[in-house]
Amino acid sequence: MRRYGKHTDEDDVPFRPSRRNTRPRTHRRPAHEDAAEGFVLTVDRGRITCLVDERSVTAMKARELGRKSVVVGDRVAVVGDLSGKRDTLARVVRVEERSSTLRRTADDDDPFERVVVANADQLAIVTALADPEPRPRLIDRCLVAAFDAGLEPLLILTKADLASPEPLLETYAPLGVSHVVTSAERFDETSVGAVLQLLAGRITAFVGHSGVGKTTLVNALVPQRQRATGHVNAVTGRGRHTTVSALALPLPDASGWVIDTPGVRSFGLHHVDPARVIHAFPDLAPGAVDCPRACSHDEPDCALDAWVADGHADPQRLYSLRRLLATRERHEGD
Ligand code: GDP
Ligand code: ZN
Repeated sequence: MRRYGKHTDEDDVPFRPSRRNTRPRTHRRPAHEDAAEGFVLTVDRGRITCLVDERSVTAMKARELGRKSVVVGDRVAVVGDLSGKRDTLARVVRVEERSSTLRRTADDDDPFERVVVANADQLAIVTALADPEPRPRLIDRCLVAAFDAGLEPLLILTKADLASPEPLLETYAPLGVSHVVTSAERFDETSVGAVLQLLAGRITAFVGHSGVGKTTLVNALVPQRQRATGHVNAVTGRGRHTTVSALALPLPDASGWVIDTPGVRSFGLHHVDPARVIHAFPDLAPGAVDCPRACSHDEPDCALDAWVADGHADPQRLYSLRRLLATRERHEGD
């Protein structure tokens, strides 16, 4: 689906369709009717690993896809050698329409806006209650990204053995976001089971600042992970192992997917449209019809103040919405 804002990796490249349509029929590429369906597990320097009939198949993007990106979570059409044997290379010839796209805008390190994960329906925001201290601003930025992309957010608060979740939960209570509190010391059947229940039947992207215990948690959720991750780890210049790409991992009993993403330091949000974020606030959204055009919802003429003053919604909700929208202007660490 076409989203707002400037994208560098969408398939809406100008001139392309018309040029293709004027080509003589015989020069058209085959329709790839025999292509197999694949689900992208990871992409590492152009190498796409996808699941085809339970086999892990390595593929490259076909040239005809041009600048169209292929990201983790994509459903794709694959042709060529689908045996999954070593040193075989298949081709991804089509990317199916995405039900959601989680994006990240350019930051200083990376000048392009990117689709991070496709087709996820939930965003698990993993935050430690201590060591490292929670960063509410980063949580807010992740929430905005989730609301903007239409993903349901889930707060996972780790290291409950070190600090109480109460202050954070109080801050986020007006948002009505679901949450679960974990502690690695009590990763027994029940606590892992509680998380698994929240992930059941869904594709959940996991984000979190490094050190929050995301790997520890994902390993507990997906016991076969160690085997699956071997090839996407790279040794960085500092000699530390870092996951370089997002990676989709199947939950036990085919009950959904975890998409583990590399630790986030920042979550660029320039592409976010307040009009989309407010959809996640059904109690406030109707009040915005009287707002000026392209209202930031934080300006003197914003109609939401009157909406709340008239008792249509809780002032705490408006306060939370404004706090979230304000994170677009600032950078984590400010
Ligand atoms: P990641 O960078 O988010 O993947 O974090 P890791 O899973 O590598 O964990 C970072 C550190 O936190 C490791 O030393 C873990 O042993 C520790 N850790 C993870 N979960 C917990 C927890 O629930 N409680 C405590 N006290 N430490 C934890
Ligand atoms: Zn407004």
